[in-house]
Amino acid sequence: MQESHNSEPDLTVTGLSFADPAMQADYRACFLSQDRRDAIVAIAVFVFFKAAFSVFDLMFQTPDQVDTLLEARFGFAAASIIVMVLFTRVRSAQQYDALMLGWVLLAVLSNFFTIAHRPSEHFGFLSTSPMLILLLFVFFKNRFNLQLLSAALLIGSDFFTMLALRTPLPSQTLIQTMATYALAIIIGAIVSWQLHSARLRYFATQSNEHRLRARLQELAYRDELTGVLNRRSFLLEAQALWRMAARTRQPACLLMLDLDHFKQINDSLGHEAGDSALVAFANLVQSSKRPGDVFGRVGGEEFALFLPDASASVARDVANRIIRECQTLSTDGQTPQLSVSIGLAVISHVDSDLRSTMARADKALYQAKAAGRGRTALANDALR
Ligand code: GH3
Ligand code: MG
Ligand code: MG
Repeated sequence: MQESHNSEPDLTVTGLSFADPAMQADYRACFLSQDRRDAIVAIAVFVFFKAAFSVFDLMFQTPDQVDTLLEARFGFAAASIIVMVLFTRVRSAQQYDALMLGWVLLAVLSNFFTIAHRPSEHFGFLSTSPMLILLLFVFFKNRFNLQLLSAALLIGSDFFTMLALRTPLPSQTLIQTMATYALAIIIGAIVSWQLHSARLRYFATQSNEHRLRARLQELAYRDELTGVLNRRSFLLEAQALWRMAARTRQPACLLMLDLDHFKQINDSLGHEAGDSALVAFANLVQSSKRPGDVFGRVGGEEFALFLPDASASVARDVANRIIRECQTLSTDGQTPQLSVSIGLAVISHVDSDLRSTMARADKALYQAKAAGRGRTALANDALR
């Protein structure tokens, strides 16, 4: 009947993701806006340097090569700006992954294009590419495999350029270069792994705490047996609605409901049958009330229902419907024959607060009992 917070979330982590797909989806959704921001920062940094390096083209290239290189650089910068705008619109982890992979491919292609079009004795990219590898690892979080793939693509294109398009390097320099790339990929991977797992742990702790808090709240707010509001939270919620009704002068009603001869049910059928009758009755009212109505168990076999925006005649219809439906509960073969008496009070100027309305509804309830039970009685406007 009530939403349950009792299902244990599965916090098992395999590699760098939660084993439970729902948990993993929650985790990625939780960090999506941070990841989007990081991606935009990374692209901005990279584009800035890419554009700034056009100074070297102007200084060292032949005029016909300069045009091709500048077109390539600024074409890439323009495409990257579009990707940054698209990143602001990303709404799901899948969109984020697709866009990230798309931009990385674009960056690797553009990198390859610019270094391939520079003279064969130029090796400047060997010092900047490892930085790009670090940038990918640190800023594009959440997808470790994509980071590895991007780094591998970048290294592949650099080494192809170095071996196929450049005058051969002395082997000592070649070894140093390989070591720099290896260092970049190792540092990047370790830092990224640590960031990933710190976030996973943080998220797992948060989820666990959230679940515990929800459970504590449930225990504090709900009646343990029936799951409806307990007395304290009924009074809190109904009091707020009562004040609103008094302020806006909207009609509102309060029903006090008491099961008839309940002691006999316990005595003849046992306490457990009594318990399940209480649950069945609470379910009946809870599932048929309007979403804005407040319903709670205020005593052993006593319940209260606050109806905002309801006139006396509407409230009387509600009460009579509950009385009718209550009689049919026993047809399930498990619930004993039940009957309920109801006292109805309309909020009036004579009430100073919810409790005085409740007191009048209680008086009406005794009148309903005295008049033969299984019926509704309307309270007088004044407490006498
Ligand atoms: P009336 O029609 O006048 O209301 O009679 P009644 O027997 O319903 O009223 P009374 O106040 O004499 O008895 C209420 C009974 O409700 C007594 C108590 O044992 C029972 N009761 C209260 N809380 C629970 C509960 O949580 N579970 C069960 N099974 N019985 C409960
Ligand atoms: Mg009672
Ligand atoms: Mg009773």
